[in-house]
Amino acid sequence: MALITKKIKGTEDVLPKQSYRWQFVENIMREEARSYGFKEIRTPVFEHTELFARGVGQTTDVVQKEMYTFDTKGGESVTLRPEGTAGAARAVLEHALENEGLPIKASYFVSCYRYEKPQAGRLREFHQFGIEEYGTQSPAADAEIICLAQSVLDRLGLSQVHLEINSIGCPACRAKYNQALREYFGQYKDKLCNTCQTRLEKNPMRLLDCKSPEDHKLAEGAPKITDYLCEECENHFAEVRKYLDAAGVEYIVNPSIVRGLDYYTKTVFEFITDSIGAQGTVCGGGRYDGLIEELGGKHMPSLGFAMGLERVLMVMDAQGIEIPDTDKTALYIATMGDAAKVKAFTLLRNVRQCGLIAETDVVGRGLRAQMKYADKIGAQYSMVLGDNEIETNTAKVKNMETGAQTELALDESFADKFAVLQLADDQSFEI
Ligand code: ATP
Ligand code: MG
Repeated sequence: MALITKKIKGTEDVLPKQSYRWQFVENIMREEARSYGFKEIRTPVFEHTELFARGVGQTTDVVQKEMYTFDTKGGESVTLRPEGTAGAARAVLEHALENEGLPIKASYFVSCYRYEKPQAGRLREFHQFGIEEYGTQSPAADAEIICLAQSVLDRLGLSQVHLEINSIGCPACRAKYNQALREYFGQYKDKLCNTCQTRLEKNPMRLLDCKSPEDHKLAEGAPKITDYLCEECENHFAEVRKYLDAAGVEYIVNPSIVRGLDYYTKTVFEFITDSIGAQGTVCGGGRYDGLIEELGGKHMPSLGFAMGLERVLMVMDAQGIEIPDTDKTALYIATMGDAAKVKAFTLLRNVRQCGLIAETDVVGRGLRAQMKYADKIGAQYSMVLGDNEIETNTAKVKNMETGAQTELALDESFADKFAVLQLADDQSFEI
């Protein structure tokens, strides 16, 4: 019985009093993406399992261990999306978006599902803000989306987040590199975790991203991709850095960043912080030039990033970054008697049309209980409306913090006058 009032392990509720924090973060992300010309894409929460197997990659942890996959009643295998890129790429292909001009630029907010070990910053249902760009191989595009991620983090006020970048080359330079990795890790084959033993043949670069401590240690001595880049990839990487330098974005080149998903090529990057413990990557992304072809489309070089919303909020918490609570009720009208109740409806409509939050009693409480409630929800102003007020067509609005009262006429000017009063008193309002 207790089961039905317990959320599933690794999931979280965002409660009404907390949601303004999410909305604040999402609004900044949305505005920033918009200012770079990215428009929102919304795709289904589940897709054919095959899409993720192909689009994320058979040798990844996500596909091998973490997917929520099930058969529908119709006998189809479907999977809850573990990330946002594969669905967006599928939609680009299905709707032939390339006909609308290249590059295709999309942003998204998605919930993602991965069967991981729940811990701080690692959930089974989590949320990402992401950017997708299809149809450009120019390093300017790589630099631009990195700038976008940086401006989001800056606007949110995050500090102590650093950017690490790397190039993991193209299939041509990767072939030589993979050979070098096979030779290196081959010497320690017996020491590797089971998953990595099988990865050694299929995709040795995955070993560099293994979370097992022993493998992680071995990875430190492994050959570095930066020594194996072909000329084109090396130039591409140099150009990306040139643009970042020009934009004043600071970074560290870290040759051991490979990213968790199979489809990455050339540029990869992560924004990392020490503020929230081991799960410190708040944003990861890069280029995936082979993805669209992998899904059956024509060659269409692409790139993007995903930012974890829970982790961003954790960093803001840890760093004491204040988020303005825009959900505070500006006016609570307490009513006595039927005529007052009716009048309140007219006044409230006008106040709400001014963009303010306004409430009244819809429970049927007495005056004292109504005032208690106004206090509990932290209303900025309250106003008592009874027969007396209706008769004189005036009422006093009371600033709940200072106790100061202001008399206002209950006519068409009421809402505007109240809005001016509220604005002048609002401490967050500074010119
Ligand atoms: P990690 O190395 O932490 O497992 P990842 O490489 O699996 O990350 P991506 O698939 O690139 O992560 O996802 C992008 C971002 O989504 C991460 O940088 C992180 O902020 C967030 N994220 C990934 N997995 C989780 C999770 N299980 N819970 C919460 N946030 C997550
Ligand atoms: Mg992961």
